Amino acid sequence: MRYCKRCVMPDTKPGIVFDNEGICSACQSVEKKKLIDWKVRAAKLAAFCDQIRGSNGNGYDCVVPVSGGKDSIYQAYMMSRVYKLKTLGVVLAPHLQTREGILNLNAMVTNLGIDLLKVSVRPSTLQKMRRIALLEIGNPNYAEHRVVFAGVARAAMFYGAPLVVWGEDIAVEFGGNVAKSAEDEGSAEDLINNDLFRETSFDDLLKGRIDENELFFYISPDKEEYRQRRIKSIYLGYYHWWDGYKHLGVAKQFGFQPRQNGPLSGNVLDYDNIDEKLCEIHIWFKFLKFGFWRPTDQCCYHIWNGRMHREEAVELVRSKQYEFPHEYLNEFLEYHQVTEAEFRECEERWRNHDIWHKVNGQWRLKNEIC
Ligand SMILES: [Zn+2]
Repeated sequence: MRYCKRCVMPDTKPGIVFDNEGICSACQSVEKKKLIDWKVRAAKLAAFCDQIRGSNGNGYDCVVPVSGGKDSIYQAYMMSRVYKLKTLGVVLAPHLQTREGILNLNAMVTNLGIDLLKVSVRPSTLQKMRRIALLEIGNPNYAEHRVVFAGVARAAMFYGAPLVVWGEDIAVEFGGNVAKSAEDEGSAEDLINNDLFRETSFDDLLKGRIDENELFFYISPDKEEYRQRRIKSIYLGYYHWWDGYKHLGVAKQFGFQPRQNGPLSGNVLDYDNIDEKLCEIHIWFKFLKFGFWRPTDQCCYHIWNGRMHREEAVELVRSKQYEFPHEYLNEFLEYHQVTEAEFRECEERWRNHDIWHKVNGQWRLKNEIC
């Protein structure tokens, strides 16, 4: 395990590559992004929005997946206010919403003046799937990612909206495998193939244990049918420089509040992923598998946007990364119907012994960032 010399990302991140100088592909992506003429790209999006505005009769011009987080508020703001499209927000109803999550989502709908469609999948099915994904692949949020993609695509088809607007292309931001269509025009059509889904296929995971009738919102509509409807899916990050901190500023204007009690354990920021309670431990598994999680990701964003020096990031990562996100542990255990002992056993199953070892009885990374 080695770390980028410019940011603090390790080479264990799936899809990342280091050059001969020891600089990661995410840092190289940032350099490439600086050369982009963003005005030209924004104008391209404006021209496209002019074309589709009102083309769906009284219906929606555009669908935006939202959570009530800062990034989704920014997306909804850009499409409804800046590009003046009739925008429908689609949210996957969170199972365990935080107080901030409820307030922020309500504030967004009220203050931005957009409609919101809530996709509420059957709780029993989702619970069963989350438990399988937690115990068998150490990736409890796996199924939800599918609902977000499939649910949004189905909503766009149902309402005949000609445009779906996603946030950032993870492959572009981090230098992974970028689809040709994404590179040329910010198309998000290959979203379902991105890095989130590499671990296992959905069918392999379920092994027929969930009835097909329960899976409508987990399965994306047929690609061909989707294409025939001429629905365009794009990444907003292709047309505008993607920066969560900038989005925070916009979101606050529409009533967004950061986490009242400050950052969660292991976090540097108090405004990142604060809308629901189950995600934090999901991200913790990334630490066990790949040796990095929230503090690394959050510091890297600051470095890439010129707001933090590497030395400060190293200090923060070293002081924060071993903090277990205990805040929502009890609710996490109860939701997944596992005891703490079973959970700890599960943690150990996913701990990567190539990068972890015990020091004085405590698990530590073999190669600490410095
Ligand atoms: Zn880097």
